[in-house]
Amino acid sequence: MKKQFAVIGLGRFGGSICRELAEQGMEVLAMDKNEDRVNEFASIATHAVIADTTDENILKSLGIRNFDHVIVAIGEDIQSSILTTLMLKEIGVNHITVKAQNDYHEKVLLKIGADYVVHPERDMGRRIAHYIVSNNILDYLELSDEYSIVEIKVNDLLAGKSLMELDVRAKYGLNIVAIKRGPEIIVSPQADDPLKKDDILIVIGADSDINRFEKKVM
Ligand code: ADP
Repeated sequence: MKKQFAVIGLGRFGGSICRELAEQGMEVLAMDKNEDRVNEFASIATHAVIADTTDENILKSLGIRNFDHVIVAIGEDIQSSILTTLMLKEIGVNHITVKAQNDYHEKVLLKIGADYVVHPERDMGRRIAHYIVSNNILDYLELSDEYSIVEIKVNDLLAGKSLMELDVRAKYGLNIVAIKRGPEIIVSPQADDPLKKDDILIVIGADSDINRFEKKVM
């Protein structure tokens, strides 16, 4: 059976989630209190309804409890976002993902039982900052406060060397989990295979160790 999703708040973020889910063939109920936004999604989502989701009765009448996953993408209005999340939790929705506006908002959302809190502006800002400061780091995924996965481009200094020679596990405590070489992804890189310029190393490790490695190879 198809998974059922509900997206509350059809701004840039919620709208984009809604579009993507629909494109992937999922069933999506799109909700917003703004009629124009709802009309925009009428032909995209499976159902699109005008609803103020801070009203518990509306949520119940839409049968929100039966949805596998509800995404709360209410932007500016933090009070509505918190109230909606609380109500979804009380109604017993299985999985709730909420977009946070700031760190305090995030803290409250986690406290009241949101399963997953996303902070797209902050996270994207961080990713882009990493990309801007370093010529070698192409992308960055924060796993926790201390650990990340990064994509590092092989420059002249690294080219020709094998993973064995680099020995990043012993020297830096890092693991190279894959190498992107053009369209190819090498998921179990051989230790003695020389790296080529413009290969992309996918590296996992502690941020401090990644920084050390980055400084050394730049
Ligand atoms: P973004 O930063 O993702 O563009 P916006 O603040 O523009 O976010 O969009 C949030 C959406 O959430 C708006 O379309 C707004 O109408 C909707 N929204 C706000 N409060 C409620 C509510 N109580 N019930 C339903 N939708 C709401």
